[in-house]
Amino acid sequence: MNIKQFVVNPFGVNCFVLSNDAGDAILIDPSVSNEREEEALTRYIEQNHLTVRHLLNTHLHLDHVLGNAFVARKYGVQLEAHEEDAFLLDLQEEQSQMFGLPMREPSPGLGNTLAEGDAVEVPGIRLQVFHIAGHSPGGIAFYCENPGEVNGQKAPPLLFPGDIMFAGSRGRSDLFGGDDHALVSGIKSKLLPLPDDTVVFPGHGPTTTIGDEKMWY
Ligand SMILES: [Zn+2]
Ligand SMILES: [Zn+2]
Repeated sequence: MNIKQFVVNPFGVNCFVLSNDAGDAILIDPSVSNEREEEALTRYIEQNHLTVRHLLNTHLHLDHVLGNAFVARKYGVQLEAHEEDAFLLDLQEEQSQMFGLPMREPSPGLGNTLAEGDAVEVPGIRLQVFHIAGHSPGGIAFYCENPGEVNGQKAPPLLFPGDIMFAGSRGRSDLFGGDDHALVSGIKSKLLPLPDDTVVFPGHGPTTTIGDEKMWY
């Protein structure tokens, strides 16, 4: 598979485009917030002849959903995320004030719900869903156990945990139903048992590995 990362919007959200050799693409948190960011994303998709098959959100805090309306309309896909975060879509205006982040066109509602044990697939790419509450009630991490070659090189497992886990820290738990105890217990029971060499691509900031994050727990 190929992975392309964009850093978007004033909150520096990591947006990922995963694609296979046939050009099927999965977008994770494509939270583009202005025309320049929209253009960079669409240019990459066009130049690589990709067909967007899935629009995934790790969770529904405002900084991760800013591009949903644009992507859903442009590529004819529906939003997929965890049901327990759906209430956050009704609070986009409130989140905008709280985060001090201007709201664009509101995100559409959930088209498909993802729950623990589900998988999102295109040929050659399988993302397993872990539900870990605590940063938000419906936070999910996407795990790819066998990515094969990534950008031309044999790769270890990959994890996209949104704001559940960052390099050297974890998500805040003081917002909209956050719960640090649930967050830590979810990380310990579902993420830390993954192979040490699993490469973690968080929702903000640099990549890390499961092995490097173990020392914090
Ligand atoms: Zn968040
Ligand atoms: Zn975030």
